[in-house]
Amino acid sequence: MGSFGEVHFALPFWYQLSSFVILGAIWGSFAAALCSRWLRGEQVSHGRSRCDACQTVLAVGDLVPVLSYMWLRGKCRYCGQGIGAGALYTELTSAAMGLVAILMLPSEAALAAAIFGWLLLPLMILDYQRLWLPNRLIWTLAGAGSLGGYFLLPDMVWTDRAFGGIFGYLCLEAIRQGFRKFRNVEGMGGGDPRLFGAIGIWLGWQFLPFTLLLACLVGFAHVAAAYVGDKRRVLHLPFGSYLCVAAYALAVFG
Ligand SMILES: [Zn+2]
Repeated sequence: MGSFGEVHFALPFWYQLSSFVILGAIWGSFAAALCSRWLRGEQVSHGRSRCDACQTVLAVGDLVPVLSYMWLRGKCRYCGQGIGAGALYTELTSAAMGLVAILMLPSEAALAAAIFGWLLLPLMILDYQRLWLPNRLIWTLAGAGSLGGYFLLPDMVWTDRAFGGIFGYLCLEAIRQGFRKFRNVEGMGGGDPRLFGAIGIWLGWQFLPFTLLLACLVGFAHVAAAYVGDKRRVLHLPFGSYLCVAAYALAVFG
């Protein structure tokens, strides 16, 4: 890290803590907008933010993460239409990811872990909502990992991460092809092996078996919770979302 890191991390802990939380909330707001626009088939840079109901262009005061939603009590200021809580949850999750990272890890590793989590967040949302892992986001995650992985786990040699990228991709791709060949079903999306490879670049190959195991446990918990909740079977399992949750959890707690 250069002088920025040294100056920033020499500041009091409460300052670091609040900057991670605020940065997380702002990123969450952006990630929520990105996901909802992509799910509607729009460009991210598609003009200013508007109310979904009345199409009024929102002012800066309407767009403050978390606070605007609470201040406006979840309603549009102009037409009174309820705003979905999806963006609020995304902002809170993103802020919490920053908070947990700075609480659990030393400063530079915490920043790397927070960035890892923040890049996983839109993938987690899009796979959950549409079983969709956009390549652009996976390549961004992989690219950031080639640098960020060093700060997250400084003791790991770079070959472990390079091998993690290759091994992660090939391992899940082999399972996916196996499913298609022998069971004749699409057991996994094509994005999952690429996502697993990108996670391998961040964490190194050593963490991949644990990531896979934890992802399965997260998936099991999801299915169980859905069954207890409304007795419905979860038909499409967003395995990519489970991988994202598992990878972030291992980065901060592992
Ligand atoms: Zn409105």
